Amino acid sequence: MSVKFTILGSGSSGNCAYVETAEARILVDAGFSPLQIRKRLATIGRTPENLSGILITHEHSDHIAGLLGLADKFQIPVFCNRDTQDATVWALKTKWASKKNPMLDGLDGTEHLKSKINWQLFTTGAGFEIGDVSIETFSIPHDAQDPVGFLLRTAHGNIGFATDLGHTTKLVLDRIRAANVLVLESNHDVKMLQDCPRRAWSLKQRILGRHGHLSNVAAAEAAAQIMSAGLRHLYLAHLSRECNKPELAEHVMAEQLHHIGATHVRLQLAAQDVPCETLEI
Ligand SMILES: [Zn+2]
Ligand SMILES: [Zn+2]
Repeated sequence: MSVKFTILGSGSSGNCAYVETAEARILVDAGFSPLQIRKRLATIGRTPENLSGILITHEHSDHIAGLLGLADKFQIPVFCNRDTQDATVWALKTKWASKKNPMLDGLDGTEHLKSKINWQLFTTGAGFEIGDVSIETFSIPHDAQDPVGFLLRTAHGNIGFATDLGHTTKLVLDRIRAANVLVLESNHDVKMLQDCPRRAWSLKQRILGRHGHLSNVAAAEAAAQIMSAGLRHLYLAHLSRECNKPELAEHVMAEQLHHIGATHVRLQLAAQDVPCETLEI
């Protein structure tokens, strides 16, 4: 059986991807409402009920918005590190979910919330398995408690995830170099961000900082540094709506791929509102 990969959506309003192998059905992040995740899974003929696990990169709401509704209702194991668990529980409890999610009504505290979900904690840097998928975790520089990227090793190829990072470290580059399919952040055009009248200076500094988000040019530089004959599919992800344009992000990366002679790489863009076409590897 081939491995199927679908980015259900990506951007600052929500991130979620689906990987299916012979023995595992995995979500990477759950950053849309449970209903929205259900709808998007339905477009590929899948439902949340029989997911084998949800991997969480970090606790920002665009990565965990649907987590409680899915994981609690269907007892889907949630894989994250301890700091992300703590921060996620805190976020679910105090920030926004209590207003939006009636399932939280009546919960009496953090311990209750912790015990409602089947948490499977990993240590950042350590690997673990879900069915026939081996998962590597690595630290990424981003303004969350202990954010990570993932490399999912399957029988048909490796799928790497590196979004939400202010810059690329040697560790990140080393880990994603093994990817045959790579989801790489191409968040903003630096000039569009600097010129954006609707963003406060402090927010611009945050996004541009070393623990913010990767620009189009930084993504292109990263691609050049990790390029291998094995990289077949490159998805540009987590594009900013206001400070980027899909055609601009694509152009910057396409120029780079052309420049370094990486004509074997298929370049695709992940969108916020609609799932990508399913990739079979
Ligand atoms: Zn984030
Ligand atoms: Zn994000």
